[in-house]
Amino acid sequence: MAQTPNVIGLTVIQRLRDTGVPPTPENYENAYYAISGLSRPRKSGEAQKSGEAGEAQKPAAETEATQPNSAFYNDLVVMLRKMLQHMTDKTETLARDLDDKNKDLAGNVSSLRSSRDKHEILRLLSAVTMQAGGIQNAVEASHKDLIETKQALTALQEEMAETRQLLNEDALTGTLNRRGLEQTLTREIARAQRSNAILSLGMLDLDFFKKINDDYGHDAGDQMLVHFTSLIKSIMRKSDALVRYGGEEFTLILPDTDTRGAHFVLGRLQQLMSKSPLNYEGGQVNTTFSAGIATLRPDENGHALLLRADEALYSAKNDGRNRIKIAD
Ligand code: GH3
Ligand code: MG
Ligand code: MG
Repeated sequence: MAQTPNVIGLTVIQRLRDTGVPPTPENYENAYYAISGLSRPRKSGEAQKSGEAGEAQKPAAETEATQPNSAFYNDLVVMLRKMLQHMTDKTETLARDLDDKNKDLAGNVSSLRSSRDKHEILRLLSAVTMQAGGIQNAVEASHKDLIETKQALTALQEEMAETRQLLNEDALTGTLNRRGLEQTLTREIARAQRSNAILSLGMLDLDFFKKINDDYGHDAGDQMLVHFTSLIKSIMRKSDALVRYGGEEFTLILPDTDTRGAHFVLGRLQQLMSKSPLNYEGGQVNTTFSAGIATLRPDENGHALLLRADEALYSAKNDGRNRIKIAD
């Protein structure tokens, strides 16, 4: 049986749900290839034990190591594109079909108006009724198909958000999430202490963010969060880690970076922000951020480091915002 992308998507989701297998990228990927019959682009070295969520979480501890999932994400994007194309094709076909049917119908209605012959009138009436029925069927069939595709898209979107959770990623911005912070910070602190290296941490919070939501709407707020993270990503090093700590608050972990270096990085970000407003619905939305920096002390743990950076952030807010403070 030919499987359209939306059918594959739905079946994968249902299969995982029905069997109670967690929707980890590996499980998802296995089901996806099994159901679609497509060949797997990566080698099958890492045999996966179904049902072991822990197996899939390992890669998230190393940002680079999340890459093996990129093949899966690429396939998912291809699948989403196909589904959207399917919807577009369907709508176009429907429009064409309706246009043709409408012309036929209009022709018969017009003949019906001018006809005086009883048999001709009956014949035309019967044709018009059939054509109206045909239009209704075409609309209903397309409607059903479009609803199914839309449901599949929504389900895929939800699954992707869940999958990102499992990858310790924030669904909106693609940065690490709070759980990712714990793992990454613990690992980086252990590494710094092992090798006597420096590590700094920045706590960043957008200023008066609530006002952006209030003035432009929640969608603009969401877009600002994505915009802000893309600006940070554009200036951070590969070894740095960015975490969405909560709402509009972010943590930047800077290995091998002293206080001055961290201040320099955040200063650059401030400059970049002032030159890069968010383009939203034809207008520009400007914002600033406040930040606190703490540099790891010998024998300090992640919790204490975060707390000091947070206190410095609080002080930056108290001093009027749009500034960077260094923790005591
Ligand atoms: P301050 O300068 O003191 O930080 O003020 P603020 O307005 O940025 O901070 P406040 O804590 O008063 O408000 C934060 C707002 O962020 C409230 C909340 O609705 C919004 N927010 C949190 N998460 C999201 C999100 O994911 N999307 C959007 N659009 N808004 C969010
Ligand atoms: Mg804020
Ligand atoms: Mg906040």
